[in-house]
Amino acid sequence: MSARRLLVLPGDGIGPEIVDEAVKVLDAAATAFELDFELERRLVGGAAYDAAGDPLPEDTLEAARAADAIIFGSIGGPRWDDVERDKRPERGLLRLRSELGLFANLRPAMLFPQLAGASSLKAEVVSGLDILIVRELTGGIYFGEPRGIREENGERSAYNTYVYSESEMRRIGRVAFDLAMKRDKRLCSVDKANVLEVTELWREIMDELAADYPEVELTHMYVDNAAMQLVRDPRQFDVLVTGNLFGDILSDEAAMLTGSIGMLPSASLDQSGRGLYEPCHGSAPDIAGQGVANPLATILSLAMAMRYSLNQPDVAQAIEAAVEAALDSGARTADIAGAGEAPLATSAMGDRVVSFLQGD
Ligand code: NAD
Repeated sequence: MSARRLLVLPGDGIGPEIVDEAVKVLDAAATAFELDFELERRLVGGAAYDAAGDPLPEDTLEAARAADAIIFGSIGGPRWDDVERDKRPERGLLRLRSELGLFANLRPAMLFPQLAGASSLKAEVVSGLDILIVRELTGGIYFGEPRGIREENGERSAYNTYVYSESEMRRIGRVAFDLAMKRDKRLCSVDKANVLEVTELWREIMDELAADYPEVELTHMYVDNAAMQLVRDPRQFDVLVTGNLFGDILSDEAAMLTGSIGMLPSASLDQSGRGLYEPCHGSAPDIAGQGVANPLATILSLAMAMRYSLNQPDVAQAIEAAVEAALDSGARTADIAGAGEAPLATSAMGDRVVSFLQGD
């Protein structure tokens, strides 16, 4: 088989620091499993704006189109706050998602038992938590037209359009049902069907799809209730599927259940399974350049890339096991260190994972 192409986009803030650790782990995995990879690096976000005046330069987009999987760090920071809206770092990521058709965002929220104390919820509510939020990423109110701010009769008003086509709903629904089949076979679709027509149709489509997945138990929940249930009893869920706006909010809420945003990976997939993999957190400008960021979310994102885009489930499992072993050995970066635990630097945490991956 020809070499798989991996593109690395470190981005801004802590992005380059955490991505370097993921590349270290990738190199170790490539040696241990005799994998054949072509690795490229490109600029994105504020770093690309500084170098090329564009947060998603053409050569970055081209390399992204050619890649089987993209490992993405994080973008943004106060330094680019005053840049015109279209050139802001975040636009680079939004455009990348839409240019590549990355419509399915997978955000697992799992609580590593070693870190149960880090959650703000009681250990008995969250221990063993393992849920997956599937968020539609390229449609809905974030992209709907028309949109804008207008002035009429001396007063401004602002408007956005909430729209989903049947085919957009169907394709994200299928991704969620397929994933539920590989897990506990329970899918909860989150909507606001009592108020919004868009989600009334969403509910209808999910019910139609359910006929093709008789083994999956499909339930529906209003988004306000889902937000409540996630903190009341999160373990009732297996897979949740929802649109772009609700998914944005619920996935951050679910992330916080686990205590550290530095632990959570994510995947954004296209129709063919190619994907962009990134930690759930941002560029953490408050700690950038200090070498103290937690690289595990990015390393776990690499594991997801192995599983979902590169067809290497054994490698994915080995990387996840190495992260668990590192945690078992007491390795903690500052964000997950308990009182009296000496925190490791970013690179030392990467080294620890590599050493377990190599079976040292
Ligand atoms: P953030 O996730 O960057 O940081 C929130 C807090 O969590 C900070 O205290 C930070 O130090 C901490 N944190 C985050 N990641 C960590 C890690 N790996 N290890 C240890 N601690 C970590 O969110 P923010 O402060 O709201 O945003 C900062 C910048 O990131 C903004 O410019 C925002 O637009 C951008 N952002 C980018 C992405 C992305 O690249 N996908 C996502 C969210 C925010």
